[in-house]
Amino acid sequence: MAQQYDLVVIGGGPGGYEAAIRAAQLGYKVACIEKRIHNGKPSMGGTCLNVGCIPSKALLDSSHRYESTQHDLQVHGISTGDVSIDVSTMQARKTKVVEQLTGGVAQLLKGNGIDWLQGTGKLLAGKKVEFTPLELTANDVQILEPKYVILASGSVPVNIPVAPVDEDSIVDSTGALAFEQVPQTLGVIGAGVIGLELGSVWRRLGSDVVVFEALDSFLPMADKALAKETLKVLTKQGLDIRLNAKVTATECKDGKVTVKYNQAGEDKEQVFDKLIVAVGRKPYAEGLLSDDAGIKLTERGFVEVDEQCKTSLDGVYAIGDLVRGPMLAHKAMEEGVMAVERMHGHAAQVNYDTIISVIYTFPEVAWVGLSEEAAKEKGIEVKTGQFPFAVNGRALAAGEPAGFVKFVADAKTDRLLGMHVLGSNAGDMVHQGMIALEFVSSVEDLQLMTFAHPTLSEAVHEAALAVDGRAIHAIQRKRK
Ligand SMILES: Cc1cc2nc3c(=O)[nH]c(=O)nc-3n(C[C@H](O)[C@H](O)[C@H](O)COP(=O)(O)OP(=O)(O)OC[C@H]3O[C@@H](n4cnc5c(N)ncnc54)[C@H](O)[C@@H]3O)c2cc1C
Repeated sequence: MAQQYDLVVIGGGPGGYEAAIRAAQLGYKVACIEKRIHNGKPSMGGTCLNVGCIPSKALLDSSHRYESTQHDLQVHGISTGDVSIDVSTMQARKTKVVEQLTGGVAQLLKGNGIDWLQGTGKLLAGKKVEFTPLELTANDVQILEPKYVILASGSVPVNIPVAPVDEDSIVDSTGALAFEQVPQTLGVIGAGVIGLELGSVWRRLGSDVVVFEALDSFLPMADKALAKETLKVLTKQGLDIRLNAKVTATECKDGKVTVKYNQAGEDKEQVFDKLIVAVGRKPYAEGLLSDDAGIKLTERGFVEVDEQCKTSLDGVYAIGDLVRGPMLAHKAMEEGVMAVERMHGHAAQVNYDTIISVIYTFPEVAWVGLSEEAAKEKGIEVKTGQFPFAVNGRALAAGEPAGFVKFVADAKTDRLLGMHVLGSNAGDMVHQGMIALEFVSSVEDLQLMTFAHPTLSEAVHEAALAVDGRAIHAIQRKRK
């Protein structure tokens, strides 16, 4: 007889495994069904740990060290001789980091008494779950009848017909994390987060990288000032970012790929060793639901949920990349925990207005809350303050003067609306803005705080002061 579970989670990514752990903490008997095989072994952790956040950051770190060792040390009086990169060692380190973390999640599940069912889960009518193990033997399919189900099957890369992925010359993000050599020339379709991060990795290691972006604006979701400065900095590093450049066809021949594109009305083409397609991700619900499961999907294939991640079926929740909202691991995690807390009768909720965005280039790009443009579109009278790292003592001591901190606030109430950072440590610094937004801070609250000297965070204080023309280390005409 099949084991009785209170909760079955389908998908062991950051959304699913965190939900499973929280439910186990609350005393539920939980199973997490995950079908992923990575490097020949069943693997927990989803896209994030296996082929997303973690391996990309491992490569970003290796490639940053390589570039920095070549170019940033002479000024400190350090000479290194010839610097070289062994790509297979770099990739082996990445794999080790991934295995440490995916193994860690498996241990966490075990330690919390959660059963990891290795195989595929499918929701059937009546909230039943069909479990098909990876290694199928006769009568192995089980029908589970839990009280609750969480759907957390994540997302997959979007494919485009003009550049079909062949895992050789044309790859998606997963393939781009696994190159065994540095391509001499590399094309990237899409100047979004993944395209910029992976483009940066291979540029730092020596590739000539061209990024094709169909839109005529760069990072349209970011604050305009932040996007403009980011474009300037990345271009100066050597990323050739072509806006208004729509790829119309590709042709693979003799190990090369020709990219045909139309830029501002003109047809052009260029040949590359490799091409990365990074045009976005789509929800993944293949084989997840039987026709009569009773779950509604949106036109774009997301599972329909309310603010609390409840689906159209009582007792069934859906979270993470499978549902509306930004496709981010931290959003998935918070939704997983919220769904379980709600299930348990707690009044948990996710504040979608304070979900942080980070692009882990160098410098990093990060923001939370409203951009100046978005605030104005909402009809809010805004005031802003900006402070550059170029005059921040710690940034100069570290040789990292690029970027700034910008605040957007309501001019009438002084309420903080958004924080935007370009800087070496932006992904961490932006959390100060997130906490301030969560506590509904005014700009004055930040102005009245004492920030340690010398830190990059002093730029946060100065940017808050700059909102009212009071930054100390800048000549400001406004006075208050
Ligand atoms: C290259 C790259 C870099 C990224 N970097 C970042 C970053 O820096 N920060 C960030 O926040 N986000 C990043 N992301 C996005 C992040 O990985 C996702 O938002 C996150 O993994 C979503 O979590 P999830 O739990 O919803 O789904 P997933 O992580 O996609 O996990 C879903 C799991 O469900 C399994 N599954 C699917 N269907 C079934 C089924 N029927 N039965 C059993 N198992 C099933 C899948 O095998 C998968 O392992 C990145 C993504 C990529 C591709």
